[in-house]
Amino acid sequence: MLETDIIWQQCLILLKEQFGEQDFNTWFKQLQARYKDNKLQIIANNRLVQDFIRNKYLTQISNILNELTGGVDIELIVAKSSEIKPNTPKPTQVKTNTTPKSHDKDLAENLQQATKLNPNYTFDTLVRGNSNQLAYAIGMHVTQKLGHKNHNPLFIYGGVGLGKTHLMQAIGNEQYKNNPKAKIRYLHANDYIQDVVKASMRQGFDELKKYYNSLDLLLMDDIQFIAGDKTKTQEEFFYTFNTLIDKGKQVIMTCDTYPKNINNLNERLISRFASGLTVEIQPPELEMRVAILKRKAEQNRINLDDEVAFFIAQNIKANVRELEGALNKVIYQAHFSEKGISLAIAKEALMDVFALDSRSISIDDIQKIICDFYKLKISDLLSAKRTQVIARPRQMAMSLSKELTQHSLPAIGNAFGGRDHTTVIHAQKTIHNLRKTDEKIEREYNLLIQMLNT
Ligand code: ADP
Ligand code: MG
Repeated sequence: MLETDIIWQQCLILLKEQFGEQDFNTWFKQLQARYKDNKLQIIANNRLVQDFIRNKYLTQISNILNELTGGVDIELIVAKSSEIKPNTPKPTQVKTNTTPKSHDKDLAENLQQATKLNPNYTFDTLVRGNSNQLAYAIGMHVTQKLGHKNHNPLFIYGGVGLGKTHLMQAIGNEQYKNNPKAKIRYLHANDYIQDVVKASMRQGFDELKKYYNSLDLLLMDDIQFIAGDKTKTQEEFFYTFNTLIDKGKQVIMTCDTYPKNINNLNERLISRFASGLTVEIQPPELEMRVAILKRKAEQNRINLDDEVAFFIAQNIKANVRELEGALNKVIYQAHFSEKGISLAIAKEALMDVFALDSRSISIDDIQKIICDFYKLKISDLLSAKRTQVIARPRQMAMSLSKELTQHSLPAIGNAFGGRDHTTVIHAQKTIHNLRKTDEKIEREYNLLIQMLNT
């Protein structure tokens, strides 16, 4: 269908504009589209691309297509091998204005493809802040002493969309840069399960073992998925895991929780997972969310005012993935309304997101939770008393009110027994500083945020 072709070409142009040349060449260029069974089918060459597009870009693609067509059903499928047209020429066949690629460069590209690493997930593109400071530093350290028993395995855990995959791949990419010949492999635990299933069908366990045991660096994402799966997978993994660690080869895993908390995982694996170094990534705080938005805008060569960045960051708190999604929505809205990005455009673009998130947090909620948590009376919290058992929770409550609600400093001061706005600023600063020096405060702060967000 000719019309589909035209729409798809337009969609590709917008994707390129939004995500830049590199992402475009890596992911979008090879996609094909056709109209079939009342659906627009987007065809990926393989499952890896399909998964990646589904997880990372499908919402944006479908937004664009909806805009272009006024609404269409989309299906993302994998091409049958006969359908793969030489749409993506092999690197050696690419006609460019630059000098032809050397054989070495092709080899390097092939090697990189074998690692399954996404070249965009690097330390450079990972914004550092309080919530991932330690994980980031440990990640860098691990790349310098890969396989050292103090951090083998490295176990990175935290909630969804907080940058676990990004950090893990950053380590892989760094290692690849330093030593392209190292045998590095990134994979999702589900892919490992598939490999085990396939091996069991063809009695090919030797081959499976041989491959995994030969790696220099194994990056296994979302390891919680092998829990609950057939014991055979866990058994195979246990074997490979031990072999690699015994040989001093680095194993890195990510997980949605810490090892002891993984349900249905063999005890032997639990204790092995915790035997190296375990590090958590936490949800980013406001400052970091703003920094991430600014960085993403910069990467897309888009001008994002502080005011707009703050507005998005104040309203999207859960994780970085949602933050990226929100920024993309704002970029689209600006693009389609042919205006620049402004606060009004951002509000319009994110209206539906806020509607969904209608359980917004009030100062009242914060005061109640603080009083429950620290076993105080509301009247004490709002009183003039300045003993530390009351003053510290009060500062925490004010600081959280600034972070989690849209109220101005004077309004917050007012809600805390008619205090001045400078008291709120002071509270914010105090908590901010304490969180860096006092582990207990840091833990309490994060716990309170979690309680308020659920
Ligand atoms: P997780 O694996 O924890 O679910 P991801 O690593 O997939 O999260 O991160 C989700 C998205 O957010 C990715 O696009 C990633 O690049 C981005 N991201 C997460 N943390 C950061 C950060 N600190 N700086 C920049 N981008 C980030
Ligand atoms: Mg992940």
